[in-house]
Amino acid sequence: MIRIERITAKLETDFVGREIYYFLKLSSTNTTAKEQARKGAKEGATIIAETQTRGKGRLNRRWISPKGGVWLSIILRPQINTEDAAKITLTTAVAVAKTLRKLYRLRAEIKWPNDVLVHSKKVCGILTEASLEGKTVNFVVVGIGINVNFALNGLPENLKTTATTLKEMLKKDVDIEELICQLLKEFEECYKQFKEKEFRNMLTEWRSMASFLGKKVEIVSFAERLHGVAVDVDGKGALVVKLEDGTRRKIVSGDVTVREA
Ligand code: ADP
Repeated sequence: MIRIERITAKLETDFVGREIYYFLKLSSTNTTAKEQARKGAKEGATIIAETQTRGKGRLNRRWISPKGGVWLSIILRPQINTEDAAKITLTTAVAVAKTLRKLYRLRAEIKWPNDVLVHSKKVCGILTEASLEGKTVNFVVVGIGINVNFALNGLPENLKTTATTLKEMLKKDVDIEELICQLLKEFEECYKQFKEKEFRNMLTEWRSMASFLGKKVEIVSFAERLHGVAVDVDGKGALVVKLEDGTRRKIVSGDVTVREA
């Protein structure tokens, strides 16, 4: 069980996680975070659940959330336009990867747009949802799911080859409150840079930890299937791919799946 009082005692942030809503079981922490945001919860308020019964991935996919994981959502109130919301996913991925590198010396890598991998296996997923008002963003909820203190057996058969957990990698349980504190701290530092329009720093960090830059990728959308080489991520967080015919295409998250070919 996650001990919230241990988190509160250890936390080194200004505003992220300073207000925590803790639940044994939720449908999805993002859904509850959106409800709390609508009720006026402050920037940085964090929803934590021991398990989620309907954890969400992108494109209506399911995120499996057994006991022993970190399933949390952070409420944000940035003054940004809708087109900038995608940058928050990248910023969050940087924070997660840095946390895993610092605490466990794992070679965590970021798979555009929203996953963190260790040894090419998914250990974390991120889901950013924005509430929009015209061209501006009312609030943003960023959900972070990390597979922590459970064995691979805690996941369905079809995920056992693509996913991993920290327990599996490190061969022991980790201090989950320490992990949450470090994650919230890294997140706050990255988010501050994003807000101060220092997104370039985030891009530099992102590039240094990207899993498939320079590699062949396959891009699958509703309409088409493309092949090319992932060459960069641009100032808006889009993936830049050089297609086989030599042209460059910007891929925006939300409507595609990218995988190493
Ligand atoms: P994608 O990797 O295509 O971007 P998402 O980020 O939307 O997918 O995450 C949802 C997908 O992640 C699911 O369809 C499933 O394949 C996988 N998945 C679900 N739960 C977990 C988990 N706890 N750990 C690792 N992968 C998971």
